[in-house]
Amino acid sequence: MIKVENLSTSYKTIDGDIHVLNDLNFTIGDNEIFGIAGESGCGKTTLLKTLYDIIEWPLVIDKGRIVISGVKKDKEYSYESGQIKKTWWNNIAYVPQAAQSVLDPITRLKKQFLDSIPKEDRKMETKEQTLKRVASYLEELSLSPDILEAYPFQLSGGMRQRVIIALATFMSPGVVLADEPTTALDVVVQRGILMMLTRLQKQLKNTMVIVSHDMGVHYQITDRMGIMYSGSMVELGATEDIFKDPIHPYTAMLVNALPRVGDKSAKVGIPGRPPELKNPPKGCRFAPRCPYATDRCKEMVPSFSEIKPGRYAACHLLKEGGSIANG
Ligand code: SF4
Repeated sequence: MIKVENLSTSYKTIDGDIHVLNDLNFTIGDNEIFGIAGESGCGKTTLLKTLYDIIEWPLVIDKGRIVISGVKKDKEYSYESGQIKKTWWNNIAYVPQAAQSVLDPITRLKKQFLDSIPKEDRKMETKEQTLKRVASYLEELSLSPDILEAYPFQLSGGMRQRVIIALATFMSPGVVLADEPTTALDVVVQRGILMMLTRLQKQLKNTMVIVSHDMGVHYQITDRMGIMYSGSMVELGATEDIFKDPIHPYTAMLVNALPRVGDKSAKVGIPGRPPELKNPPKGCRFAPRCPYATDRCKEMVPSFSEIKPGRYAACHLLKEGGSIANG
């Protein structure tokens, strides 16, 4: 489980602080695939890195905390921001953006697997015994164990991505974070990667967090999702409900911009651009692009709260009982 409480982060620059994440509050349960969506620059990747405890100057946690917890081999564990690093690979794993290029191109994959497995986990095993375990894990994931003898440059981009996912999940971590896992891959390979992630989550019954700008990815594999805009979470709920009945004006525009089978109407993108994080609007950051914006929206930041059971949003209109259907 992941608990994010009052989390705010910023980049410290000589021109002042750039607030990238603003007061985030949400929980991601065990045994679910949770998606994080939003346009580029909305803070998705910073959030994922913060969840993984990659907090490197000039990025700073200004307030709040993250707790990851669960049970592994009958033992309870709990780590919070600052300690999460201690449990990398074991209880939490990260598949970074453009993961295909993180493998060392001139080292055989078997060595890269052996180097990634903590010594405690190998216990009294010989290298050969560990590699046998790796080979049978690869087979479970429908990958040929022969690839252990290969160098990464001998594999296609899609195959390298599968190898990275296999590496990240070999220790059965309770939490897997994946940043844009299908970007730069063709549609057929993308589908294979999404199927692999879904299968793995079912097998491990863990928490999987998928960051993607592609709403189609969320529709295909996530159980619940959060929509981010300019460093804030603006809507959160079950994926099916969000696609069927988006309640936040920004989510509605994102969903309405998606092409649908049989729908020949011209699709338009969301007019305008997200604000600069360095100099955001005073009230709701979506106000300059929102057709429902009022004077209040321009002055006051809307709080993120439960609008109906399981549905959260940050919007004055919704809190006042209005909706995007009746304005
Ligand atoms: Fe639009 Fe106001 Fe809601 Fe922001 S708070 S999304 S400006 S209606």
